[in-house]
Amino acid sequence: MRRCPPATLLDRYAAGALPGPDADLVESHLVGCAACADRLERLGMAQDLLEQLRDAESARAELGSDLAALSSLQQWFTTTLSSVAGRGGPWMEHE
Ligand SMILES: [Zn+2]
Repeated sequence: MRRCPPATLLDRYAAGALPGPDADLVESHLVGCAACADRLERLGMAQDLLEQLRDAESARAELGSDLAALSSLQQWFTTTLSSVAGRGGPWMEHE
């Protein structure tokens, strides 16, 4: 392959979504084309970055739901405490 493959082909190659024969063509082109090799390297880094971002995002989502659960628990606790304190249960008077 003397001409450079279209960018979309490189994108799919970087994403590992290119079928065998096409991937072979891209690979054999990359050996002789520094421009495409460089582009692919950037694409690979972008993929890694994207994956890290996705991991961070899901970690934050998990943390977010934990925080929401914690704050609703805290709210329940506060409400219960204040209602108990306000009523002053009978078990308190006879102590
Ligand atoms: Zn090229």
